[in-house]
Amino acid sequence: MPAPTTFTTKEILELLQGKNDEALYAEADRVKHAVYGNEVFVRGIIENNNICARNCHYCGIRSENSALNRYNLTADEILDCARLIRSQGITSVVIQSGESDTTSNAQIADIVGRIKSEIGADVTLSLGEKPREVYEMWKEAGADRYLLKVETFQKSVYNPIHPGYSLNDRIKCVENLLDLGYQVGSGFIWGLPGYTLELFADDLLTLQKMGVHMYSTTPFVAGAGTPLATHPAADVETIYRALALYRLMAPKVNIPVTSACASLDSMSKQKGLRRGANVLMLSYTPDKNRKDYALYAGKNTVSSEKLSDLQNLVDVVQSVGQKMVFHPGRSKFER
Ligand code: SAH
Repeated sequence: MPAPTTFTTKEILELLQGKNDEALYAEADRVKHAVYGNEVFVRGIIENNNICARNCHYCGIRSENSALNRYNLTADEILDCARLIRSQGITSVVIQSGESDTTSNAQIADIVGRIKSEIGADVTLSLGEKPREVYEMWKEAGADRYLLKVETFQKSVYNPIHPGYSLNDRIKCVENLLDLGYQVGSGFIWGLPGYTLELFADDLLTLQKMGVHMYSTTPFVAGAGTPLATHPAADVETIYRALALYRLMAPKVNIPVTSACASLDSMSKQKGLRRGANVLMLSYTPDKNRKDYALYAGKNTVSSEKLSDLQNLVDVVQSVGQKMVFHPGRSKFER
């Protein structure tokens, strides 16, 4: 089994700058295969509401965006989506939303329990910052994983775009989730204002030390109705370099090709899967709601045929000589 590589900040910086793409991508692909073989994991994601009390400057579902239709799936609708996901063979469900109490914490616990026991799938939650007791309740209900991106570890980047919120609180949430025994995913938004390659290199090292089970970085893509609506989109090649690097820094973690990459590069899945990534996600948010989960321009704009979308993903995976598998796809990373 390949050991984690210890890079210096300077080495990471040079690789992020593209000094040696060919060797980096080949090595990441080799390490990915050594850990996960040619298996690619798939997750079905349900975006259960777009109602948010927060006002993050990059995010299209921020509270001050009045141009959006707000929706909130009922527990029955969420369970119907989960059944659809399971009926297509997928055994890993992700539930993500804005941050409000529209769906109560107790309701989420009930839904998690039912997806685990009645539907028979692993559950990842991505519902933002909550008190430790709430994370604990959801874990006891059966939740397996939690996705909470720190977005960046740099206060100089984080503070101006999260007015009224504290980066330390967010980091504490990730620590609580790790402590409670979740498989935890975290990462960054590359391309935020003031986020330099030096700071990004530093963040990758901090995350490696923290020891999360899943690494995820999205490229910034401007969202309508946000203060960053005219800020340029991130360079997607840097995302590939970073995921390849992180595969070497933590060989056993799960690494998805994030959906925002597809807005910038129609070949993102093929490229990501050949450069160290091993997870793909598919949105099962109902057609009537999916366009309103508008985190950024181009997200969920097309309606979904679900089964044909899944078949397309299977074909993409096959086209790069890998194989989509339908077990829950747990991370092999251990702390
Ligand atoms: N409220 C939850 C879910 C937020 S949406 C939470 O805070 O964790 C999930 C992720 O989408 C965010 O963590 C962020 O990394 C990403 N995102 C939001 N707006 C984006 C944008 N304009 N470009 C790229 N990624 C974005």
